[in-house]
Amino acid sequence: MISLDQEGYLTLGKKQAVLTGRCRFRVKDKNGRVKLEGQAEEFGMDPASGDNVFIADFTPLKTPGTYCIRTDTAEGSCHFRVGNDIYHDLHRDLLKAFYFQRCGCALEEKYAGKFTHACCHTQKAMLWEDRSVIKEVSGGWHDAGDYGRYISPAAAAVAHLLYAFRLFPECFNEKTGIPESGNGIPDVLNECRYELEWMLKMQAEDGGAYHKLTSAMHADFVMPQDDKSQFYIFPVSSMATADYAAVMALASCVYEPYDEDFAYRLSEAAKKAWEWLEEHPEYVGFSNPDNCNTGEYGDESDLDERLWAAAEMYMMTGEKKYQKILKKFAKEEVGKTDFGWTDVSGFASLAVLTNKRNRVSEWIRHDFKNAVIQEASRLLQIVEENAYRVAMKPEDYVWGSNMVVLNRGMLFILAALISNGESARAYEQAALDQLHYILGVNATGYSYVTGHGENAFKHPHNRPTEADGIEEPIPGFVSGGPCKKPCDAKAMEMIEEGTPPMKCYLDDAACYSLNEITIYWNSPAVFLVSFIIKMTDKLGKTKRRSAAKTEKNETAKAPAKTVKKTEVMEKTRTPAKARKTETVTEAEAAEETETKTKAESVKDTEMIEEMEDCND
Ligand SMILES: [Zn+2]
Repeated sequence: MISLDQEGYLTLGKKQAVLTGRCRFRVKDKNGRVKLEGQAEEFGMDPASGDNVFIADFTPLKTPGTYCIRTDTAEGSCHFRVGNDIYHDLHRDLLKAFYFQRCGCALEEKYAGKFTHACCHTQKAMLWEDRSVIKEVSGGWHDAGDYGRYISPAAAAVAHLLYAFRLFPECFNEKTGIPESGNGIPDVLNECRYELEWMLKMQAEDGGAYHKLTSAMHADFVMPQDDKSQFYIFPVSSMATADYAAVMALASCVYEPYDEDFAYRLSEAAKKAWEWLEEHPEYVGFSNPDNCNTGEYGDESDLDERLWAAAEMYMMTGEKKYQKILKKFAKEEVGKTDFGWTDVSGFASLAVLTNKRNRVSEWIRHDFKNAVIQEASRLLQIVEENAYRVAMKPEDYVWGSNMVVLNRGMLFILAALISNGESARAYEQAALDQLHYILGVNATGYSYVTGHGENAFKHPHNRPTEADGIEEPIPGFVSGGPCKKPCDAKAMEMIEEGTPPMKCYLDDAACYSLNEITIYWNSPAVFLVSFIIKMTDKLGKTKRRSAAKTEKNETAKAPAKTVKKTEVMEKTRTPAKARKTETVTEAEAAEETETKTKAESVKDTEMIEEMEDCND
């Protein structure tokens, strides 16, 4: 098998495929011309895949275009592109996926194309514990392949998106084609507001946040408008309330420049939730009552949620009491590096380390920074030690393992943002490697995003996709991915005992523990791709500036300080043995060194000068 990123590779980026056999490989363009060939180098046994694997490095291929790999053992790869715009459509679709999760409205053809559905779930809900209380709580996003809506997962998903927007706003200029598009507000904020308006309805009178809104039992595989179940509002938990305070405070700051009234409503909700937390310092947990099988989203501690809430409340208000709480948490050594719904502590680090609004004391910053760098360097070592460059050990392939990959990708990005020089470049590359894994550099050979990649998964555990009568799935959804101990009946039946963890996967709609979709698996992917697009654009601009500077200097006959590099020449019409020596600025050379990490070691790789047939 040849595993590669089926969306493609950045022009100046490292380009590697993982192969399961020893071979020579050729990279061919869409006309069948061989553009590069080499010997795949043995990596050795990869424990998570159970395979002895080989690496084909084709980093020197820098001409934008569409390619595939063929080996001398007659294997062929999926097609992939090289270019700097390869992730733009992916970014749009990952974000647009949230529109397809909207509940309480119809999805119209104008926005949804063929994936329309009528208005769903507008019926009023009743409190689980007091059926006489009826509330209007429609709206929000369906959480996953089911039709439930849950506060903690919602808070994590909105936070991923809002931080992506706050840190990389230039990646959100494009309209995604939703009803609000063109209203002068970036669509990512329009989309998040759809969820936040629902969340505002989910606050109890006393400020606590209801844990979830679902039917008692999961609906059958029917379209959302055909699910007529009674929906219930489940009791308040401290986990949900702390997540709620945090995301409302964060959102209040983000929306302030766009809509002061909405920002005010969000800040009031955040303050009320915080008051509830002060009045309930003990852990108020949640577990599913009898006769309810919808998502539980339970937790064993709310310390990380309270930490995140304190961080965002400080950023919103600047009040010293929150900084005191942050200091206390810092001493207690609560985790500070995860971005999932169960451990949200990484969001506190994002708040403390990337926010310019209200700076915390240097002591606290230092503590958070240390925690982030320590964990990121531990994960970087895992990346360096496995062939697929994924930040997971065999034991990390849990239910929703793609979330682990994406969240660790986010940590690499945070580490890159607070580092300099070579360390920052290593974290950036590791973040990109996590995306490569999701898009096909893995032992199953699937791209785990619907509609993106020649071998993208097609059968998500998602009720509308199963019930809509349309063959292909809605594009832009991330699969949960391999799970070493699957817990749904189909996966338990089909996956043999002892299967290597990276291969414990089936593209089957029945396998909810392998192939469901959720809002909080898409949202870290949006964050990751936003960063990579920004990084690529920045690199392109630097490159153009450097080139312009060189040109100017040459014209003025005052040559820039230069170094020499030898580069294998692109195929030309002249069949000469063509190696050219060109002059570049030091800045360019440094960029090259940063982006091509292993090119030098591919001694055997060189451009082919003769036209060759693709079918050989
Ligand atoms: Zn609905």
